Amino acid sequence: MSTIRQDPTTKEWVIVATNRAHRPRDSGTCPFCAGNESRTDPELLRIPDGGEWQVRVIPNGFAALSPADRVGRWEPGPLFREMAGVGHHEVIIDTPVHDRTMAFMSDEEVTVLLRAFRARHQALRADPNVRYILIFKNQGENAGTSLTHPHSQIVATPVAPLHVRQKYRVATGYYDDTGRCLYCDVLEAERAAGVRLVFDSPGFTVFEPFASQVPFETWIMPQHHQASFGQVSDGDITRLAPVVRRTLRALHEALDDPHFNLIIHSAPVEDEDKPYYLWHVQILPRVATIAGFELGSGMRVTSASPEESASVLRELVR
Ligand SMILES: [Zn+2]
Ligand SMILES: [Zn+2]
Repeated sequence: MSTIRQDPTTKEWVIVATNRAHRPRDSGTCPFCAGNESRTDPELLRIPDGGEWQVRVIPNGFAALSPADRVGRWEPGPLFREMAGVGHHEVIIDTPVHDRTMAFMSDEEVTVLLRAFRARHQALRADPNVRYILIFKNQGENAGTSLTHPHSQIVATPVAPLHVRQKYRVATGYYDDTGRCLYCDVLEAERAAGVRLVFDSPGFTVFEPFASQVPFETWIMPQHHQASFGQVSDGDITRLAPVVRRTLRALHEALDDPHFNLIIHSAPVEDEDKPYYLWHVQILPRVATIAGFELGSGMRVTSASPEESASVLRELVR
C-alpha cells in the first residue's frame, strides 16, 4: 500500500506510490477496448448497452490509494506525519470504442458517461474514510495519460488537499463577509462582463476565467447552487452533456486536438451541504509547459488573454 506524507514546511500532502512507476503504456492489445474485458480487474460498474456495454468502471490496476477499514496515522519523527494510502482510485472507461473521445460522442453517450461519474462519486461518498473526491480526465501524453483509449479517473482521498482547503477558506471568508456564495457571484460577474463568456445554455455557463492559469482554461459552471457533483440531478446531467461536448469540440478545433486535463471540482465530503461552494468543471489545455518559475513561485505565466480565447471559442461553438 502507498503512504501519504505531509511536507512539514507547507502542510501539503504527497502520495508516495512506488507501484505507479510500472504503469502500462500503449502496447499491442488495448485492455479497454470491447472484447478485452478479461484483461482488466473485475468491474465496479457496467452501464449495459444491449449485450455490450457503454461505460465500465474498474479499479485502477496501479492505484495511488486503496480501500481499507481504517486510516492508520503515525509519526516516524517529530516533523514527519504519515498515514496509510487509504482511499479509492478507479478508472472509468468512457466508451468501448478506442478513438471516440468525448468531443465526438453523441449527447446521449456523454449523458451516460456523466451519470456513471455521479454513480461512482455517490458510491465512494459512502466510505467513512473518504474526505475528498476528485473526478478527472487526462487526455494526451502531455496531460499525463499513458493509455490512448478514452478514459477518466476518480480518486477519493482520506484528507482534503491543501489547495482545496485554501479555496474553501476563501469561499468561507467571502460568505462570512457578504452572506453570498463566491462562486455564484463570480458566475454572475462573468455573465455581466460578457467578454470572457463562451456560451450560456439553459442551466450552465461556459467562460474563460478572469485570471486563467493557462491558455484556453475553460470553466463550465452550473447556474444554480450545488456544492458537489454527487448531488447533481438527472435533468442537470442531461443539460450538462451537450455543454461539455460542445466545449470540448470547440477546444479541439481551436487548438487542433490539444492534450488537456478536465477536472470536476466538488466541495470536500463533509462540506457538501454548505451554501458557499459550487461544483464546476475546469478544463486545462496542456499547450504550454510548466517550468522553473511556475514551480518555484506557484505563479503561472500565460501567453493568451482569456478575452481573446473566449472570442475564438465563441466563433467555434456556433
Ligand atoms: Zn482501446
Ligand atoms: Zn453558489
